[in-house]
Formats: sequence, structure tokens, C-alpha cells
Amino acid sequence: MTAGAARPVNRCPHCGAEPCLPLWRKFTLGPSSKAHCRVCDCLVGVEALRASAAMLPTFLLIVAVATGLLQVIATMIVLLGVTVAAMLALYASWVPLMPEQLSSPTMIEAGRARRAVRRRGEGGR
Ligand SMILES: [Zn+2]
Repeated sequence: MTAGAARPVNRCPHCGAEPCLPLWRKFTLGPSSKAHCRVCDCLVGVEALRASAAMLPTFLLIVAVATGLLQVIATMIVLLGVTVAAMLALYASWVPLMPEQLSSPTMIEAGRARRAVRRRGEGGR
């Protein structure tokens, strides 16, 4: 594996803004959902393969509980805490953001302007 930790995983693939999304918003993204960059308004998502890999331990735990492989409540709770913490840590530092639409410098500029207008509107109220 190459130096994955040094790669900025919360940078917008369109405009390069970092962070592109608040961390909580990134946590809500699944392999098939998308969000708007808070700077350029373009659509971004998480890389499906890594997002799925990050969710895998939690998913396996749910399968183990559902199939009766795991029956001790205390173990379930501890493992749930560990797998969810691992998932969030992987999302924050290892799952990169991917473009979910084609963008051009013109679109990024237009999106930035749209965002700026919205911010001014909210501030003026
Ligand atoms: Zn952006």
C-alpha cells in the first residue's frame, strides 16, 4: 500500500476545497448517496469500494447477531462500539470523496457564486 494517510480524503474533487463537507455529512454518505460541496455546490460522493470496506465489519457483526452466531449481549455491545468506531475512523481518514457529476471551471464558478448568494441571503435575515 502507498502512503494513503497523506492523501487528503476530504478534499473536493471539483474545486479542491478542504474540507469539502462537514465530517458528519460525510458520515451520512453511503456507497450510492451524494452531497453538494459546501464551496462549489457540485455533487460529490464517497468511493464505493472503500466505503463498503469501511462498513464491512459492522455489517458482518449484524449478520453474526442475526444468524445467532453471536448471542452474548455484552460482546455484541462491545463489538458494535469497536466496529462503528472503526467505520467512522476509516470514513474520516481513508475513504476519499469522488466526483458524482461532470464539472467544468465555469460550473464550479457558477456554483461558488450560488453558494455566496445563499450565504449573503442567510446573513441578511
Ligand atoms: Zn467543491
